Amino acid sequence: MALKTTRLLKRLREDFQLSIITLMGLFGVLGISPYALYRLLHGNYLVGIADIIIVLSTILAVLYAWHTRDTVKPGIFLTAVFSVSATLIAINLGVNGLFWIYPLILFNFFMAPPGKALLATVLVMLSLAAHALLVPGSVFDSHYQMVSFLVTGMMASMLSFIFALRTRTQRDQLQLLAIHDPLTGARNRRAMNEELKIAVASHRRHRDRFGLLVMDLDHFKQINDRFGHHVGDQVLMAFVELIQRDSRKEDRLFRFGGEEFLLLLPNTELDGLHAAAQHLRQCVAEGLKSPGGPVTVSIGGAVLRSGEHWESWLQRADECLYRAKSEGRNRAVIDDEQRPAAAQTASGR
Ligand code: GH3
Ligand code: MG
Ligand code: MG
Repeated sequence: MALKTTRLLKRLREDFQLSIITLMGLFGVLGISPYALYRLLHGNYLVGIADIIIVLSTILAVLYAWHTRDTVKPGIFLTAVFSVSATLIAINLGVNGLFWIYPLILFNFFMAPPGKALLATVLVMLSLAAHALLVPGSVFDSHYQMVSFLVTGMMASMLSFIFALRTRTQRDQLQLLAIHDPLTGARNRRAMNEELKIAVASHRRHRDRFGLLVMDLDHFKQINDRFGHHVGDQVLMAFVELIQRDSRKEDRLFRFGGEEFLLLLPNTELDGLHAAAQHLRQCVAEGLKSPGGPVTVSIGGAVLRSGEHWESWLQRADECLYRAKSEGRNRAVIDDEQRPAAAQTASGR
């Protein structure tokens, strides 16, 4: 029981959108249930039923989000349900119902992406205005009151929209920074660990094949020593650009040490990994330059084995890299227990 609670709290802490949906769900249920009861007891069935629909939809959406881990669809669903219900309530209750439109505006921007939230909010206000014009005196006490409501409602919506857009941009930037190396733009070590774990899980579940290449620039220290750190940095950036250009779109490049990189290749068997390693080694030898001349790379690789832990997979690739270095550099060695030992270094020059 305690373990389950800890796990639920952990999910709430890690998934911001899930915690918002749950919190709003709690507010919705606790805040609206008494009103539903009150309306029904006083014979206002339309509003009472609208309130009950809101409460039930909220419970459904929160359960869906927890079960599927998808927070986008329940967020949009709740935005639609709350917007339609709030419009009906405001039409039915008049000015007293209009007060609910302001928290609704905030709710929509918490729940749905900014564009969809703005659309829902504007539709609510236009529907109320249209109803008031068609049935004079039904929602607002006067035209002046309607114009005041529309102006303040639009202002609140626009400010929420700008705030939501800014928050989203900042969140995207933070996410980008959290998983990328600032110098080269390749993914960082933290992202690498996660992706390797995901690859192992995907292999276990769907038998997907994954190859791994560990790449280390040759004699890189000399470039720094002879031409300065700045030139070394330029070479690292050029290396990443080159690998990203010459590898497949689905391959993922990570920088996991100073001049050490890892390429994760989905859907790759042993032969494919040999070919990719050879191709990339050659592209670097021909295309990567420092003021002192061509720069080369040594590569070690391994295909994920069944039941293997990601650390042992990485270690096998790393041992191959070590061999590539000791056998003269500018070569690729792939861990290949099915081939005769002599063929293992055949991926070299
Ligand atoms: P080997 O062929 O055996 O790999 O030799 P190496 O000189 O490439 O390897 P070594 O590990 O001796 O040197 C790596 C160098 O990479 C040392 C370190 O100063 C440099 N380095 C690490 N990070 C950065 C960085 O961000 N920028 C630059 N310019 N240099 C870096
Ligand atoms: Mg090196
Ligand atoms: Mg190194």
